[in-house]
Amino acid sequence: MTQKHSIVVAGGGSTFTPGIIGMLLDNLDRFPLRKIKLYDNDEKRQEVIGKALEILLKERHPEIDFVYTTDPKEGFTDVDFVLAQLRVGKYEMRDRDEKVPLKHGCIGQETCGPGGLAYGMRSIGGVLEILDYMEEYSPEAWMLNYSNPAAIVAEATRRLRPDSKIINICDMPIDLMYKMADMVGLKEWQELDFSYYGLNHFGWFTEITDKKGNDLMPQIKEHVSVNGFADGIGTSQHLDPSWVETFTKAKDVYALDPETIPNTYLKYYFYPDFVMEHTDPEHTRVDEVREGREKDVFGFCQNIIDKGTAEGVEIELDAHATYIVDLAIALAENTKERFLLIVENNGAIPNFDPTAMVEIPCLVGKNGIERINQGYIPQFQKGLMEQQVSVEKLVVEAWVEGSYQKMWQALTLSATVPSAKVAKELLDDLIEANKGYWPELN
Ligand code: NAD
Repeated sequence: MTQKHSIVVAGGGSTFTPGIIGMLLDNLDRFPLRKIKLYDNDEKRQEVIGKALEILLKERHPEIDFVYTTDPKEGFTDVDFVLAQLRVGKYEMRDRDEKVPLKHGCIGQETCGPGGLAYGMRSIGGVLEILDYMEEYSPEAWMLNYSNPAAIVAEATRRLRPDSKIINICDMPIDLMYKMADMVGLKEWQELDFSYYGLNHFGWFTEITDKKGNDLMPQIKEHVSVNGFADGIGTSQHLDPSWVETFTKAKDVYALDPETIPNTYLKYYFYPDFVMEHTDPEHTRVDEVREGREKDVFGFCQNIIDKGTAEGVEIELDAHATYIVDLAIALAENTKERFLLIVENNGAIPNFDPTAMVEIPCLVGKNGIERINQGYIPQFQKGLMEQQVSVEKLVVEAWVEGSYQKMWQALTLSATVPSAKVAKELLDDLIEANKGYWPELN
């Protein structure tokens, strides 16, 4: 009998929580659970999701202990896995991440652009806090972190908590694999094998085969060169108009290097002019999310609470999030399965900074990760990655040292900011917008 696990979702008030819990319940046969906890520092936001899930679990899985809490001791004691999905500052601050840079003629981009750098300065402290709670109350546990901006958070934990049991992972390449599987007539992304290298939201597939080793790249390239990723199936979180535009634009991103299949986020660096022309500064991604996913998820939960029952209710499963269960199983049962993770390079890309947090395939087992060497990378990608990894490292240095100068350098070096002058004006506005969240910069 497989051991039953105890998990806590940190950022329990996240719009992704019901989908993640639904996915976990759907996978109990291979990942049995004895306890599910939600932890958040916003009691009111989490309560709606917590109450609804409490009703649902009591009706469908009374054998699983369920609590939602804002008390770190209660949240992190006796857990095997921490699933971290924080957004420090919530959508109110995401709104500023996206809109303040637009006032300066720059893309906000809430992961790797200036908005992401602002978000990174807020997130480092939040993620370290969760990691410290885990180490205090359940030192044997693993943290599976998919909080954004993943690249900056990963660099911060590499520098500041080098011995922590944390694995940083992103779902974007999985969504792309879903689409690529569909392009070649396969049903599941797990039916593909792949090679990939880059930074988070900044990478390239170099090989895609089926499980028998047949090369699928020619068919996929043909498809992407005409349609991008636009007409493939995908996950429900990526259906808004801005995502459809991103998936279509991938064909122009692909054109820059027809040897590889790119991550869609590269459009922000290659075609910032296009992105600016297609952005309404009064209505950005965050507005789509608030009008769509946030409203739907909280409405769904409120409905269960009002009726006092989850009878007849179906949770929209976050099916692609099964990678989280696969990862937890790999750690618990030493499966040595292959995952695309954000890890310290350490020679896996020999012609790239060994201390960079790169996104590469790794094997995962009981003792953690083993990198799969991706070989030497071409000049084009190397140049782009060197610039971006420097931006990310400078943000972390700015946070650690409280350095205005380093944050100005980070923004100046970002491919989406046109000059040091704009970077400085933008930085001053971001400091104002993030009062109370950023460390003081001098
Ligand atoms: P959300 O605002 O709905 O939820 C985030 C929750 O985190 C909120 O309830 C908030 O109160 C909580 N929180 C913030 N700071 C906290 C702290 N210090 N301690 C405890 N809780 C805290 O946001 P969302 O859109 O659902 O996204 C959540 C996170 O998951 C984001 O970082 C998002 O980018 C990330 N995400 C990552 C992936 C991936 O695969 N990398 C996919 C989807 C979402």
